[in-house]
Amino acid sequence: MESNTNASKEELIETIEFLKEENSKTVDELMEKLRSIEGEQLKTNISNRQLEGKIKELKGEINSFKKTPLILATVTEVFDNKQVGIQGAVGHEFLVNYPGSIDKELLQPGARVALNQKNLGVVNVFPAKKDADITAMEIEEKPDVTYEDIGGLDHQIVEIKETVELPITNPEIFEEIGIDPPKGILLYGPPGTGKTLLAKAVANKTNATFIKIVASEFVNKFLGEGARYVRQVFDLAKEKSPAIIFIDEIDAIGTERTASSEGADREVQRTLMQLLAELDGFDSRGDVGIVAATNRPDILDEALLRPGRFDRAIQVPNPNKESREKILEIHTKRMKLDDNIDFENISEITEGLSGADLKAVCTEAGMFAIRAERKKVISKDFLDAIDKIMTNIRIT
Ligand code: ATP
Repeated sequence: MESNTNASKEELIETIEFLKEENSKTVDELMEKLRSIEGEQLKTNISNRQLEGKIKELKGEINSFKKTPLILATVTEVFDNKQVGIQGAVGHEFLVNYPGSIDKELLQPGARVALNQKNLGVVNVFPAKKDADITAMEIEEKPDVTYEDIGGLDHQIVEIKETVELPITNPEIFEEIGIDPPKGILLYGPPGTGKTLLAKAVANKTNATFIKIVASEFVNKFLGEGARYVRQVFDLAKEKSPAIIFIDEIDAIGTERTASSEGADREVQRTLMQLLAELDGFDSRGDVGIVAATNRPDILDEALLRPGRFDRAIQVPNPNKESREKILEIHTKRMKLDDNIDFENISEITEGLSGADLKAVCTEAGMFAIRAERKKVISKDFLDAIDKIMTNIRIT
């Protein structure tokens, strides 16, 4: 009788233990679901906020379209009694008033002002052109990117060392042999593959100032002044030497010349001619290196590729599997990772992604871990991140 009672007691305890374990599994599962719902909610909140911002911006834009247009003019002289001399596009000079709300610091000769059409009162003031030029280029004293931060472009690194680094660090080698090193090097390939990184790394290695200009930007911003701008960039590089000039999207000024020589086209051609002139008058054994980049080598003007100009063109392709693994290694170096992440598999399934996309995958994986309130990034975070980045690429 007693042994029967003991047996059913044990059974009961076992059942209780089993139920406890089952319950805790269910609780874990529910918690996991809750976290994922919270994650989704966070994402929706963020995108809602972004949409609200966009709506506000668009409303602002619509309002600005309803207003009467303003006249643009340049300040020629500033007087004490809240008056300035301005010159309009046709050349006439006017003495006009400006309100106390205008930033007097910005109101210098050369500054651009927007004027009310009726009374020519100053409504807004923009900094003088000189400042605008400086903001259009990116200047970095000695970038902190090194060759070790670049995954999988070994052959391209050797080329850039020979053609840009060596003429700056050891110009005598070329002199001894009796040849002129290439003046400029052209990197071509799809976006986000490391062209800027290569140029920054060579600047780092040569302790050079990195001066980046985006050709398409200055064609748009400085219509009518592209040539002057090119000259300024080369002068600045000489002043700051050793320096690396990096011209991104060179196709914007270096597209094969068409028969049409109207307005904007003519202006783009003038800018290109100035660039060619700067290249021709340039000593390649000096301490300024020129690196240009493009995604469209097929449309470049032959004149740019002639010997003595950008006579070395190096392809920077999307990374292969081995390079993708190296790039992932570089971008996860500082991340806290779970032990069993299979980077070989990750690089296998990320075919077609660029270096920049792979960096985005790492950042996104980190974001998934943060949202799940985990201290380490796990394999699933990477898979979710790849899914997200690949979907984004398909949409755009
Ligand atoms: P674009 O043609 O759009 O100017 P790009 O080729 O100049 O692109 P980068 O600006 O060099 O591309 O790359 C963008 C970012 O992507 C880099 O800051 C880096 O984080 C990452 N990246 C790209 N390629 C590599 C690579 N090979 N190794 C490591 N990181 C890379």
